[in-house]
Amino acid sequence: MIGFNVPPYVGTELTYIKKAIENHKISGDGEFTAKCNTWLEERTGANRVLLSTSCTHALEMAALLAEIKAGDEIIMPSYTFVSTGDAFVVRGAKLVFVDIRPDTMNIDETKIEDAITERTKAIVVVHYAGVACEMDTIMDIAGRHNLLVIEDAAQGVLCSYKGRSLGTIGDFGCYSFHETKNFSMGEGGALVLKDTAFVEEAEIIREKGTDRKKFFRGEVDKYQWVNWGSSYLPSELNAAYLWAQLEKADEITDDRMRSYERYKSGFESLAQAERVQLPYVPKECQHNGHMFYLKCKDLDERTRLLEFLKKNNILAVFHYVPLHSSRAGRRFGSFHGEDIYTTAESERLVRMPMYYGLTREDQDYVIEKVHEFYGKK
Ligand SMILES: *Cc1c(COP(=O)(O)O)cnc(C)c1O
Repeated sequence: MIGFNVPPYVGTELTYIKKAIENHKISGDGEFTAKCNTWLEERTGANRVLLSTSCTHALEMAALLAEIKAGDEIIMPSYTFVSTGDAFVVRGAKLVFVDIRPDTMNIDETKIEDAITERTKAIVVVHYAGVACEMDTIMDIAGRHNLLVIEDAAQGVLCSYKGRSLGTIGDFGCYSFHETKNFSMGEGGALVLKDTAFVEEAEIIREKGTDRKKFFRGEVDKYQWVNWGSSYLPSELNAAYLWAQLEKADEITDDRMRSYERYKSGFESLAQAERVQLPYVPKECQHNGHMFYLKCKDLDERTRLLEFLKKNNILAVFHYVPLHSSRAGRRFGSFHGEDIYTTAESERLVRMPMYYGLTREDQDYVIEKVHEFYGKK
């Protein structure tokens, strides 16, 4: 069976985890967390990066920093993972879904402005497959309406838009290091802060609402409870795993980009024959090979393709069921404007096996079987 995902493993993880144990420092914010934070700051140009227990929690921290309250409205795409909305819903926000662009599957920046009301607090964008949203337009809209921009860059670590790292363009950026993402720590993520203004508050929220960070830096002589917060910092054992991965980040990215390009050329003829559509990457966007998807004709064809591949021992998968059509999505949000592309495009999309270390032979087999499926019809 060719799996859809295999968690990334580079070989040095256990050495670093053992080191954390030998250091007698397995709770959060030890040597490995600091190394990961610094590395991410240097690579992304962010003012501050704080490792967290998940991207979901990074989004929750962003919601707390944005002081989202009951009744506040959040503009976001419906085609995304539940956490993008849930992190704001737990603060009482109402989700306002707008349509996506069919080319990138990202929020349609031209539909945002019409959804703004006096209750709108933030625009939450999702960089699908690590391909950036049209950030210049979105930042301009946010600036004119005095809204915060939060980037769900769960899939966009080490990706960029016009040379700027995803996660560093909006007010807050959120990364995921879940085992399904390019770089992993099992469960984990990071909050990315563009400017210094929110750093101190973010550190407090992450440490159960205490100023413990300041205490460790010797800035206060004892730490105390100063605000609300939670426990959003990951264990050093997880950070040690991630550090091994970050050291090999370029190797991981190169490997995934090679697989991406191989799929792309492998399916080129099917695209030219208009049997499938390939992903589109605007020229100002650099992605990281997080995902390779095809678009079939419709839901029925996709169902048959997935079945065919499964029978041939290939696990390809579909992706998000739009949030506005889910039970919680209907309760906590509503679609603004017409759903022209969200549902229709999501039903056509199929993701090919993609992970660090995917072999050429396996990939060629996948490509061959997809061709076989289309050849048969
Ligand atoms: C993976 C993912 C998340 C959730 O990440 P966790 O680290 O598992 O909380 C959120 N949003 C998007 C777009 C994702 O792909």
